[in-house]
Amino acid sequence: MSALRHHGNLSHTEISSFTGLASGTVSAITAELEKSRLILRTEQQSAQGRGRPRVLFTPNAACAYLAVVIISSDAIQYSLADYNGKLIDRFSERRQETQRGDFVAAINTGLARLASRSRITHEAIRHLSISSKGLVDPAGGRLVWSPVLGDEQVDFHDDLAEVWQNRVAVNNETLLVAEALWMRQQTKPDSLLTGGKGMLAALSLGHSIGLGIARSTASGFEVVAPNFGHMLHMPGAALCRCGSRGCIEAYCGFYAILRTAFEVPPDTIPAKFVPLAELDKIASNARHGNRMAAFAFRQAGLALGNGLARLFSLHDHMPVFVTGPGTRYYDLLQGGILEGLLQSQAVRFGGLPAIHVELNEPELVFEGHMGLALSRMDEDMVSAGMTTPPSAQAG
Ligand SMILES: [Zn+2]
Repeated sequence: MSALRHHGNLSHTEISSFTGLASGTVSAITAELEKSRLILRTEQQSAQGRGRPRVLFTPNAACAYLAVVIISSDAIQYSLADYNGKLIDRFSERRQETQRGDFVAAINTGLARLASRSRITHEAIRHLSISSKGLVDPAGGRLVWSPVLGDEQVDFHDDLAEVWQNRVAVNNETLLVAEALWMRQQTKPDSLLTGGKGMLAALSLGHSIGLGIARSTASGFEVVAPNFGHMLHMPGAALCRCGSRGCIEAYCGFYAILRTAFEVPPDTIPAKFVPLAELDKIASNARHGNRMAAFAFRQAGLALGNGLARLFSLHDHMPVFVTGPGTRYYDLLQGGILEGLLQSQAVRFGGLPAIHVELNEPELVFEGHMGLALSRMDEDMVSAGMTTPPSAQAG
């Protein structure tokens, strides 16, 4: 299915060469997928008009839909994609809810709007893929701690179950970024992950700090999102948004940079949200020689460098891809990051890691959603051996 989505219409021989599957296996699989109407067969007359027509397979785009919900500090973005992985509709709604109940109600309303705008029923949306920053329990479908709702947990399986049943998946946003980066590396000729082995980290900089790790396993690969932003940087020190003291985020989250730049005491309760324009102003001051502003970014870089060094001490070196809105200040953070890395023995002896700046985080997040959700949908739909009955489509 992913070969068909990636390359478009494919013939039997092409499927075999793209997937490495034997011809007989391809026949068995395409026959089964065709029977359950997950793929469609088209016949193409050869250019000369002679001989047998070429048979091509393509995913049955309208047989099921996928909704993606991306929760961020100030907005919720809703996207609808078809079974071919093609984006059909997208809109964002500003978010003000601070109560769990209102928050869940807002998502339900947003999803209903998504379905009605494309004139499809709830049942036609076979999978709902949700992401947020913070601590997520993917197996339980729960948001355990989020910058948006704090300690108020959201159980998406329970809360959206009535309408969406067992088709809800919740993931940490930076985990999805790591997943997308991993998939991109697989198709690169100059891949950083040689010989199908390796590990990479995605580090997301913004109001909060996220880390995702993708690594190879015996059966393929896995992605995890360790609680990097709230790992201890300095015991008993600056107050973090999570309520603890001395977390990495309490030094390099946007609110922390703001706090240092304006010389506000580090035990001041963090601002709920800092507009980018505010950070841009501090960055501009730093670039024009303001010492306190420059120090705020250097201190943030130092916390990130120390944190990454600890990660390498435990897991060995891996390439790091820096993403998120904070990448626009990378020139100001870089010095502190290098300094923080070099303070550790792991880096002094093991060398500096490869660090890449990836500017388009939203694209990576969506790619990660699609990668995980479509393969889960494939499994669900093949095991169910059926597609949405035609009656589920309203028009
Ligand atoms: Zn914290």
